[in-house]
Amino acid sequence: AIGRELLGVGKLVTGYGAAPVLEEVSLQVRQGELVALLGANGAGKSTLMRSLAGLHRPVKGGMHFDGADISGLSPDAIVARGLVLVPEGRQVFKELSVLDNLRLGAFLYPQDRESRVEEMLERFPRLRERLHQRAGLLSGGEQQMLAVARGLMSRPKAMLLDEPSLGLAPKVIAELFAALDRLRAENMTILLVDQMAALALALADRAYVLEGGRVAAQGTAMEIAANNRLAEAYLGGH
Ligand code: ATP
Repeated sequence: AIGRELLGVGKLVTGYGAAPVLEEVSLQVRQGELVALLGANGAGKSTLMRSLAGLHRPVKGGMHFDGADISGLSPDAIVARGLVLVPEGRQVFKELSVLDNLRLGAFLYPQDRESRVEEMLERFPRLRERLHQRAGLLSGGEQQMLAVARGLMSRPKAMLLDEPSLGLAPKVIAELFAALDRLRAENMTILLVDQMAALALALADRAYVLEGGRVAAQGTAMEIAANNRLAEAYLGGH
């Protein structure tokens, strides 16, 4: 069931130096929603995700999560509030074991770590088979599962998923999206950036399209998928 607004971005302005990347971007994600954030390469999707995670400091505008202002909070404080980023490129610690990567996801909850690891191994059985291997030896798909599992270790209220399908084979992408569909069935709130726009829209409740640093379109996933101009720009070939 979809509930109240959990995540809100209001007129966010940011960039790197002089040229702005985002110009007054606003969006909302409600409890239990899966919202897709679409846009060409360089549109600023990762910048928005990193801003929400406290990894990039916006110039102006507001960011709210679960009723609190999160602008200016440290990345750790944002995780503690229940918002977790699964970054582009997975960013698993390749030299560490799968187990230690998972444990790091619960760095705020050391006393409860091992039971959470067990939960993740039940959710992602493939990781159990690889538990003591170095994460760098996993396939791309397994590394992405590990990155999602590491994010879940803090028991977030919402997840920011940045390009989870990047570089994965179609069959692996299907498995990954099935795992995301299970998460949303459990009422997880998700903001998803993915180049596989047709797949993302098939999973999403709603979507926003970023163009030129602004929200160029927003609507239900069906509305966005049915828009000819957007379909041509973002859904071609997938
Ligand atoms: P992609 O899918 O290619 O990652 P994106 O929509 O996520 O695209 P961003 O990564 O947010 O886009 O990048 C937006 C713009 O900001 C791009 O023009 C990019 O070159 C620039 N940019 C991103 N990170 C930095 C940085 N650390 N320093 C300077 N410019 C940056």
